[in-house]
Amino acid sequence: MSQPPEHPLDAPAPTLAAGVPVRWVDVLIIGAGQAGLGAAYWLGRITGLQIQVIEQNTVGNGWLERWDSLRLFTPRRFSGLPGMRFPVGADFPDKREVADYLRGYAERFALPVETGHQVRRLWQSDGLFYARTDLAEFRARYVVVAAGPFSRPYLPPASALLDHGVFQLHSAAYGRPSDIPGDEVVVVGGGNSAAQLAVELARTHRVTVINPRPPWYLPVTMLGVDLYWWLYLTGTLNARASSPVSRYVRHRGDSIIGTELRREVQSGRVRLITGRVTGAGGQDLTLSDGSHVQAQNVLWCTGYRPELAWIDLAGALDARGEPVHQRGASPVTGLHWMGLPWQSRLNSSIIDGVDRDAHATAKRVRALERRSSSAPSVDRIS
Ligand SMILES: Cc1cc2nc3c(=O)[nH]c(=O)nc-3n(C[C@H](O)[C@H](O)[C@H](O)COP(=O)(O)OP(=O)(O)OC[C@H]3O[C@@H](n4cnc5c(N)ncnc54)[C@H](O)[C@@H]3O)c2cc1C
Repeated sequence: MSQPPEHPLDAPAPTLAAGVPVRWVDVLIIGAGQAGLGAAYWLGRITGLQIQVIEQNTVGNGWLERWDSLRLFTPRRFSGLPGMRFPVGADFPDKREVADYLRGYAERFALPVETGHQVRRLWQSDGLFYARTDLAEFRARYVVVAAGPFSRPYLPPASALLDHGVFQLHSAAYGRPSDIPGDEVVVVGGGNSAAQLAVELARTHRVTVINPRPPWYLPVTMLGVDLYWWLYLTGTLNARASSPVSRYVRHRGDSIIGTELRREVQSGRVRLITGRVTGAGGQDLTLSDGSHVQAQNVLWCTGYRPELAWIDLAGALDARGEPVHQRGASPVTGLHWMGLPWQSRLNSSIIDGVDRDAHATAKRVRALERRSSSAPSVDRIS
């Protein structure tokens, strides 16, 4: 009689009734954006565990889907992942370079990424995580959710109150100026997306920007030195989320990197209105001070929410469907988050912050693994 295999990965995968194969791994990483890849890098290096990254799309696709002219607001030096610098070139990489960089990163470190797996449900039973995709059911002892904080475009309720004749688009669906009909557009939002797109559209449209607060412009360089170097050297860039500077930045809201929008406003090519959109009716947007702004076309640069409805784990999400965590560690033992805004530091949701959070995640998994060495492993559970 043949010996049972040492590890379930050596065994032929059991098959579910529906014909879906079961795949056993130690650590399952969901999402192969920068956060998932960075986590795979560090988990692979310091845990010795069997890792699998699964991705519903292809690596880098998330960046390619963003608008045509998108350039990073972070310079190359601050856009690299652990172990591999961003290649040299013009100051601010464009979105294709970022997609290429991510693909090159996964290849260079031979990260175990499998694409085409959309996790439809993630649940737990007997201490094991189960992740169901159309192609397989993964069973894992640890899960890192790196599904992206900016996946579901957010539209304020006012958008539903506008007349059907008003053309509306979220920045997630915007590609280029010709996507906006006519010659006028109201851009709603106070972040870098709103600023970049207002400047771009000012070449072809009469642009009004409605910004919820007075814009906070930060120059790209100060005294000839790149802003990000200053942020880095002063410890601001990776300040702890609980630090006074982080609290100030959170309270103050998004800064706008660069002053192009200010120039457009000063020259009269862009009209800037400070106010929060609180309602709408007909062709009018209503602002918090009761005033109205007429709109033929509206470009909503109003941000995103995570898309996590597929997570079916008690205690993992709060009442609003947002991750519950402490510096990325979930109260659900074995579950970890990556890439969340303010996960641990000011830069947690940008490329520069991945290294530190991914390393911390890998260290946590390693510590759990050491502690659970007396607990049953996947082969014994099966
Ligand atoms: C317009 C815009 C501009 C930005 N510019 C910059 C910048 O200049 N510099 C900077 O550092 N940061 C920038 N960011 C912020 C941040 O770096 C990016 O949003 C980045 O894409 C986040 O990486 P991520 O890996 O956390 O998430 P994502 O890149 O969103 O990757 C998550 C991955 O998970 C996959 N996924 C999601 N759900 C599932 C599922 N159920 N099953 C399987 N796979 C799933 C997705 O397909 C995706 O590939 C920008 C963000 C936006 C929106």
